[in-house]
Amino acid sequence: MSIDNLTPLAVEVFKKRYLARNYRGETIETPADVFARVARVVAEADRLFDARASVRDTEARFASAMTSLSFLPNSPCLMNAGRPLGQLAACFVLPVEDHLESIFQSLKDAALIHHTGGGTGFSFSRLRPAGDTIFPASGVTGGPVSFIRLFDAATHLIDRDRIRPGANMGVLHVNHPDIKAFVTAKQDRRQLCHFNLSVAVDDLFIDCVKNGRDYPLVHPRTGAEVARLPAADLLGLMAASAWATGDPGILFLDRINRANPTPEMGPLEATNPCGEQPLLPYESCTLGSINLTRIIDGNAIDYGKLDSLVHLGVHFLDNVVEVNRHPISRTGEWSRMNRKIGLGVMGFADMLILLGIPYQSEQAVALAEAIMSRVQQTAEAASAELAVKRGNFPAFQQSVFPARGVTWRRNATLTTVAPTGTISILAGVSSSVEPVFAFDVERRIVDQVFKDVHPLYQRYRREGRPIDRRIFQTAWDVSPHWHLKIQAAFQKNTDNAVSKTVNLPEAATVEDVRDLFLEAADMNLKGITVYRDKSHPDQILSACSLK
Ligand code: UDP
Repeated sequence: MSIDNLTPLAVEVFKKRYLARNYRGETIETPADVFARVARVVAEADRLFDARASVRDTEARFASAMTSLSFLPNSPCLMNAGRPLGQLAACFVLPVEDHLESIFQSLKDAALIHHTGGGTGFSFSRLRPAGDTIFPASGVTGGPVSFIRLFDAATHLIDRDRIRPGANMGVLHVNHPDIKAFVTAKQDRRQLCHFNLSVAVDDLFIDCVKNGRDYPLVHPRTGAEVARLPAADLLGLMAASAWATGDPGILFLDRINRANPTPEMGPLEATNPCGEQPLLPYESCTLGSINLTRIIDGNAIDYGKLDSLVHLGVHFLDNVVEVNRHPISRTGEWSRMNRKIGLGVMGFADMLILLGIPYQSEQAVALAEAIMSRVQQTAEAASAELAVKRGNFPAFQQSVFPARGVTWRRNATLTTVAPTGTISILAGVSSSVEPVFAFDVERRIVDQVFKDVHPLYQRYRREGRPIDRRIFQTAWDVSPHWHLKIQAAFQKNTDNAVSKTVNLPEAATVEDVRDLFLEAADMNLKGITVYRDKSHPDQILSACSLK
């Protein structure tokens, strides 16, 4: 697959989402033009650091990596580079402090970010609980869930004239007095369509669950303990909600903060909408993904090719930080301070099929670890090389790196495994590190339904090659335990987090979900999201889903 033989679905997605249009609404670009436009704008950043830089060479290399579908940046970069919006990042986190000015400032900022195709995450943990008094007026607040509804409604309005649905992540700490209302907030499926919800769980909570103890709920404003709940009951409620609807997911907050590269700048409290990118308030991150099917040479992995794609990806994404035009100045300032980037992979399941390795196998786990470890190490080398030429990221001295003996580092974080929901369609490969959802499926893209046969499956059928069920495993053939194992294998060598949905069979019970949450807590994961088969009425055809 390359730009010359895109899948019909990819052609359609290009047309609907990425090709520039004139005022009459007619497309005025081809997919090759999109990549040329992106390469030109992103390569231009080289000139800022070296007046004699061979920008045209860089541009050609960026364009070639994209047209061969070997590396693709996240959607906003493809949509907006060299166009009026100019905003290239997919992920943002905004603060929500316990006063109206902060809440409505972030509501406005989120609207501006959604307008550019970026997704936003918020921690609502600092808001006082429902029923609490508001001073100096004598009213009472509706609490975090009422404000999440407000953000959802605003997203819906911004969404109306857009082709990329606005997406949010709402996080609440498990010790918040309104935690039960939050956990069950999406049980009515018509509610909060533009939000994913995650409970931020700490080590103490998991400890209380395991030892059958009560867990304290704490008033966020006063710090006073207001109630105690059996931790196991609370986890049970989370499992019951996730069993029914997929929400909430869990973020393992202490683990996320143990990996915080700049703890002096504050704790990490929230992530972007799909959970793979923890960020400080006002930080943003641009993601980019390497297509793993492109690094296969015969029956082996071409690690040299992987290395060059990682170097290219780090260079590309660091340039994006430079040329990105932010809709609000604060996200620009914070994003340039830590220069976080998120390089990851897509097409892992297809790579396994090509190599004849079942997804559910120790061999796949070992390969996941080997590949991501190589990506991480090479990205560190690439970021150090850039730092020598361009300088360390401005907050380097406040980061954990000097104490670890690191002298050069251009970016506070380097790696993230993104869902690649749309860009993997462009590349015609399985998304992210997920197994293939189904080999023959109907998808809704914006307002049309497409018959979508998985490209690799189609190729095997066309070439008359055997379809071995052991190798062509779908998300439902893989047991939840093995979903977690693959996620953990990637997480081991990923600075940020790994986007992963653990698929459960329709017959799975609430207890299964609870057990899985506990299993995840014991693994090296930053979060967990589950989805039980058919728990959404129209699954992929859902108008309410992110994609
Ligand atoms: N995202 C968003 N709206 C969407 C899909 C994605 O805001 O409809 C953001 C969100 O922050 C998500 C990130 O983009 O976590 C990456 O998602 P994905 O990799 O699926 O995006 P793609 O680049 O493939 O469009």
